Amino acid sequence: MQTKRTTQDYLDLDKQLLWHPYTSMSHPSPQFLVEKAEGCEITLSTGECLVDGMSSWWSVIHGYNNPTINQAIEEQLKQFSHVMFGGLTHKPAIKLGEKLIEITPEPLQRVFFSDSGSVSVEVALKMAIQYWHTQGKASKQFFVTPRSGYHGDTFAAMSVCDPENGMHNLFTDALTQQFFVSPPPTGLHTPIDENYIAEIRDMFSQHHQKIAGFIIEPVVQNAGGMRFYNPDYLNTIRALCDEFDILLIFDEIATGFGRTGKLFATEHSQICPDIMCIGKALTGGYMTLAATLTNDKVALGISEKDGVFMHGPTFMANPLACSAANASLKLLLEGAITEQVKQLELWLKTSLEPCETLDQVKEVRCLGGIGVVELKEAVSLHNIQPKFVAQGVWIRPFGKLIYLMPPYVISKHQVEQLGKAIYQVIQDK
Ligand SMILES: *Cc1c(COP(=O)(O)O)cnc(C)c1O
Repeated sequence: MQTKRTTQDYLDLDKQLLWHPYTSMSHPSPQFLVEKAEGCEITLSTGECLVDGMSSWWSVIHGYNNPTINQAIEEQLKQFSHVMFGGLTHKPAIKLGEKLIEITPEPLQRVFFSDSGSVSVEVALKMAIQYWHTQGKASKQFFVTPRSGYHGDTFAAMSVCDPENGMHNLFTDALTQQFFVSPPPTGLHTPIDENYIAEIRDMFSQHHQKIAGFIIEPVVQNAGGMRFYNPDYLNTIRALCDEFDILLIFDEIATGFGRTGKLFATEHSQICPDIMCIGKALTGGYMTLAATLTNDKVALGISEKDGVFMHGPTFMANPLACSAANASLKLLLEGAITEQVKQLELWLKTSLEPCETLDQVKEVRCLGGIGVVELKEAVSLHNIQPKFVAQGVWIRPFGKLIYLMPPYVISKHQVEQLGKAIYQVIQDK
């Protein structure tokens, strides 16, 4: 008979058997065993209760164990949990598609569901290439993108990530060589730098015959450095794309569903992309689901001359995930989301402001539900993670960036706890 396993037994097995994101199998970073999660708190099997500053990689916007989303999934579970999407369809997917079209900018009219953010980016890139193919411009096969971007870990997605910031430079020779421009100058309100516009224009005018699309994370470059930039750049980039027959692709996987204070970051600008990727918070962080939305021009363009779009994942539009997404959107749209996130921005600002006085800190910046403390030097995740846990918070920094992206339902007191913990941990470093 098996004796009851202790927390340590489980962690030992984990260490032995399981790969975690971006970790070594021989020197894995410490892992913490979760027993339950409720609202904005994650409880470890050792009993510690951690205030969640991460929304589990920016997805769990309504908090954990949400009764509304739970119920939606349970109801769908009683009907069916999955059917293939080839030849079959279902109400959860149809309702979700309808809603997404309703809440995104008007030109976006068609939806392709897939399993993860990276895949939705692959889909977006394929759409762009296929579109130009049917339009008789088959040489348009490549993409322009700013450095410091992040679009996922699959191969085509990696090819448009920052080529040097460490995540993927190992693969450089195996990747399609895309065209890179500088990252947009930082500062939400920094006036437009005409030299930057000129750089993009030069790139477009030199290579437009090869360029299918321009892909960018609108307003915030996220995993590539938590950089905020002036949304006016997007207006100008849209005009340049039109001038040079280049499709504009927005990766809203991180920024979508309210994170920047607008439902979608594109709303900070006056324009709309041709293709838009969403994921992460789509299901309220319950299940993996993503979507690529596009306009009629691209969708019908691809479909000309008996064209079909060449993608179709096994778990496309999974009904449980679609039901979770429908419930999450209902919560999001019922609630006063913009006010809630505005409030959160204020709390983040006041809670993180004290960190500005620390020598180790280069800058503190906040936008919507994003709070960033940029340090002068990179932190060691190995050392710093247990310190945050000891402070009773769940925060996972990368490089020089200690940041917060909490669930929108977090309380003022909990944000203050997160801010204090960051201050304490930096000070003790
Ligand atoms: C997380 C992220 C992705 C990748 O999504 P996965 O679901 O992890 O594949 C792509 N783009 C952006 C902007 C992201 O933040």
